[in-house]
Amino acid sequence: MSFSYPESTTYMEGEAEISICALHSLELCHKCCMDFTDMNMRMRKDAKFAEMERDAPGARGSFQPRSIPTTLGKPLVELAPGTRVRMLDRSGRVPPQHEMCTIVATNMFGTEYGDQELHGNLPCYIVKMDKDGERFSYPCEDLHDEWEILDQ
Ligand SMILES: [Zn+2]
Repeated sequence: MSFSYPESTTYMEGEAEISICALHSLELCHKCCMDFTDMNMRMRKDAKFAEMERDAPGARGSFQPRSIPTTLGKPLVELAPGTRVRMLDRSGRVPPQHEMCTIVATNMFGTEYGDQELHGNLPCYIVKMDKDGERFSYPCEDLHDEWEILDQ
């Protein structure tokens, strides 16, 4: 008698490496007991953020700041890609963690790319952390309000 564990495999969807079960080619397979949905969502989002960074107007030297709507009324002036920002830890922990980041793009429609569950449909900046190069999204109005903006 032989038994082999179900295997997974990957394929490229654009620049995102997507995992599926090898037998049925499913991202979520109850037969193989495999669930790659969260992981694949992250991979798709990472690929999308990388693409947004490449396509950001600042990267082509033609940045024209847009007006970013907010929930509080007064619109914001968009920060240019390349702007250095610092995430301040206001939790009161000592020493506070100050994470240096760079804005790489603006997602004016926060409903896309899995941002919605985190941020509603607020416009978001895509920021990249100095520490490990990880990109993530953060609502524009919260960043302007809570973070330190180092150059603009
Ligand atoms: Zn399967």
